[in-house]
Amino acid sequence: MKSSDIFKCKKCGDCCKGYGGTFVTEKDIITIAAYIKADPEQFVADYCRMSGKKPVLAQGKNGYCIFWEGQCTIHPVKPRMCKAWPFIESVLIDVNNWHIMASSCPGIRIDVPGSLVKECVKKELSKNHN
Ligand code: SF4
Ligand code: SF4
Repeated sequence: MKSSDIFKCKKCGDCCKGYGGTFVTEKDIITIAAYIKADPEQFVADYCRMSGKKPVLAQGKNGYCIFWEGQCTIHPVKPRMCKAWPFIESVLIDVNNWHIMASSCPGIRIDVPGSLVKECVKKELSKNHN
């Protein structure tokens, strides 16, 4: 089974709203800061909030990611997590997360055995080592 068999993005933007926060890696911070012409520390201060010890992208008043304006305004440099979605590590930790994510992402198919979902996630993660 191919990854495209279990996920097809419907471009609804729902994943850019709510859903527990988008983590940014050190590399994301440097790349996005450069893209928006900000200092990395200033970028974290102005565009992120802390979730525990990790920075996540802040949300605007509308509940959407601070970089959402009808579409992603940092698309070429969007965080690793956004590029990888929905093929992310937490699905390997607990495949139930796939179902939880599906409740906010109409592109995710849930009528697929967990073992196949994990197989696809592993395959996609192995392609995305950034
Ligand atoms: S919620 Fe899912 S289907 Fe909608 S834009 Fe995000 S990834 Fe695509
Ligand atoms: S960075 Fe872009 S793709 Fe990621 S949550 Fe924000 S608006 Fe959505």
